[in-house]
Amino acid sequence: MIPNKKLLLLPGDGIGPEVMQEARRVIDWLARTERVKFDIAEDLVGGASIDAHGVPITRTVIARAKEADAVLFGAVGGPQWDKQNFDNRPEIAILQLRKELGLFANLRPARVFDALADASTLKPEIVRGLDIMIVRESTGGIYFGEPRGIETLADGSKRGINTEVYTTAEIERVARVGFDLAAKRGGRLCSVEKANVMESGLLWRQIVTALGARDYPHVQLSHMYADNCAMQLAKNPQQFDVIVTSNLFGDILSDLAAMLTGSLGMLPSATLGAADASGRRHALYEPIHGSAPDIAGKGLANPLAQILSLSMLLRYSFDMQEDADLIEAAIEAVLAGGLRTPDIMQPGRAKIGTATMGDSVMRELEKLA
Ligand code: NAD
Repeated sequence: MIPNKKLLLLPGDGIGPEVMQEARRVIDWLARTERVKFDIAEDLVGGASIDAHGVPITRTVIARAKEADAVLFGAVGGPQWDKQNFDNRPEIAILQLRKELGLFANLRPARVFDALADASTLKPEIVRGLDIMIVRESTGGIYFGEPRGIETLADGSKRGINTEVYTTAEIERVARVGFDLAAKRGGRLCSVEKANVMESGLLWRQIVTALGARDYPHVQLSHMYADNCAMQLAKNPQQFDVIVTSNLFGDILSDLAAMLTGSLGMLPSATLGAADASGRRHALYEPIHGSAPDIAGKGLANPLAQILSLSMLLRYSFDMQEDADLIEAAIEAVLAGGLRTPDIMQPGRAKIGTATMGDSVMRELEKLA
């Protein structure tokens, strides 16, 4: 018998619980239609956990996350917790989960739904049909490298130092995620660094090249300098399938790619750990937006980023490609029908709230299934 999939839901604060509720309806539908059997647990995280337990995440929740096959996360934070000590802010929960679960590869898809091609700041013909994936190394590189700090020089002036540092193992494991994804998608991986001016970039290129030749001969590998990649993303983003890059370059390039799609309320993400011998890996899925305190409790939040995070979870943790496709097709159909939450509202379309958007996705799911 196939064991039930263990899913941990962490809705968090602000609009987190509102958008999670709509994703939960899709989860319940998947279970009801017997596409998958879940063991679902839900727990507090962020400000909600601070209020109940005094800390943004408890050891119990961390243990549950470790046991889960996948974690679906909402959003955390809000002005009511701004006075917390820096080390006890709601946002620490995410950092702690990343650390405890060893999540080192951040996946940010940039996909433009046809009906929203006009919402991008780029011309519709440049972004229509866009579907790229950026894999960012997220636990190494210049944000963590030593030495770092600000030192005072003999003449009293100061010097700020950060160090870009990557080892063979760190490069290989994130490159492997990129190659695996490319193999499941369009078969093309572009590795991005600055090998022309940085030794760490040169090593990056050598290791990715060797790994590709050794283990992924069927994936078409190319290399690009990060500055050129920024230009190419704005000029002709459709040339890419999967991009793999360092923490610093990924931080910048994934935000650039996100904006090609037009709205924060539409963007999911995943963070993955290393696969064990059985192929199982820790994974956390979340929308890239925060808790949006300005609209929390008003029923205005767009739940699609949360629902798309669920579809990523099905795709990458449970290998349920058909069900992920179905959810994305349902969303495409809702948007094509002209329904819009306020954040993606366009002239001549119908403005709806969070729950109605959830209803519409459910209706399309039933139709398509
Ligand atoms: P935010 O993403 O919460 O909001 C930015 C703007 O986008 C707001 O105007 C908001 O109303 C809008 N928005 C965001 N998501 C939306 C959605 N689904 N539908 C419609 N509109 C949406 O960023 P912020 O305002 O900088 O941060 C608010 C809080 O969230 C802060 O406490 C911050 O620390 C936290 N935060 C958490 C995460 C996370 O949990 N991963 C990420 C970013 C920010």
